[in-house]
Amino acid sequence: MTPGADLVCSAKGCRQEATRAVIWRNPRIHTEQRRKVWVACPDHVEHLRTFVDLRGFLIEVLAVGELTPDDG
Ligand SMILES: [Zn+2]
Repeated sequence: MTPGADLVCSAKGCRQEATRAVIWRNPRIHTEQRRKVWVACPDHVEHLRTFVDLRGFLIEVLAVGELTPDDG
C-alpha cells in the first residue's frame, strides 16, 4: 500500500473512497507475516469485516492512514 494514494472501496461495484482497512489472513494459504488488506468505505467496512471474521481470518481493522508499506 502506498500511503496517500487514492483508495477505492474493495466492495464489488463500489466506487467510494475507502477510509478503513480490514486486515486479514487465511492461515491455510498465507504465511504468518502476510497481511492481506481490503480497504472499505464507511458503508462497506462492516460487511467486509464480518465476511473475514466469520471465516476466522480477521486480524484487525485500521484507518487507512494507519496502513504500513508492508500491508498489501
Ligand atoms: Zn464501499
